[in-house]
Amino acid sequence: MRKKAVLVVGAGGLGAPAIIALAASGRFTLGLADPERVELSNLARQIIYGTRQVGQFKVEAAARYARETLGFRDVRPMNIALNAANAPELVAQYDFVIDATDDPAVKFLINDVCLAMGRPFCYGGVLGFRGQAMTIVGGETACLRCLFEFPPDQDEVATCREAGIVGSVAGLVGFVQAKEALYCLRGLRPRLAGKLFAYDGAGRRAIRILPVQRREGCACASACSASEDVRAGA
Ligand SMILES: [Zn+2]
Repeated sequence: MRKKAVLVVGAGGLGAPAIIALAASGRFTLGLADPERVELSNLARQIIYGTRQVGQFKVEAAARYARETLGFRDVRPMNIALNAANAPELVAQYDFVIDATDDPAVKFLINDVCLAMGRPFCYGGVLGFRGQAMTIVGGETACLRCLFEFPPDQDEVATCREAGIVGSVAGLVGFVQAKEALYCLRGLRPRLAGKLFAYDGAGRRAIRILPVQRREGCACASACSASEDVRAGA
């Protein structure tokens, strides 16, 4: 039997803290997928990189950090962008996927491929002082398309990027995502399966956990109807 494995898609604001939390926590294979290189503007929130890593591929710098600073050996860096052609084969090699990308199209791709391949994953998002995370278990919980019916259009995405990301909020959400992966690897149910973790650093209630219902008519119902039939009969 192969070793358990976690795939982190995105080695930036969410991925960096997730990698630290994962690499400190046990024996499994850690896959990292990100096509970007480290930029100077990343350093304030992507704390596994320093000025010496500027210009290097993020996944290679992150893998070196995991090996040399954290002593975590079994890391697979892949400087690739996840797309519809490569995602199914890649996702099939992992037991849990962390969505640590800032690209909504890739988030929806992760959602669809993980549902199709029967892999749980944890969605994460940050904007300003707000952050969110939710774990999606196909056939059981709401999916990303239940939560957001369509990906936002490009103008909206650009506006979000201008609003910026507070490093410590990304740190919190990335850590929460790593914990979800670790629950799953240990055979436990992820705490945020079907529940939205919502952090608002500027709000009166900083942290809320909100159950998310499956949306009637969502594509996830048909993708996972077989496993539902089994449960209904049990
Ligand atoms: Zn759905």
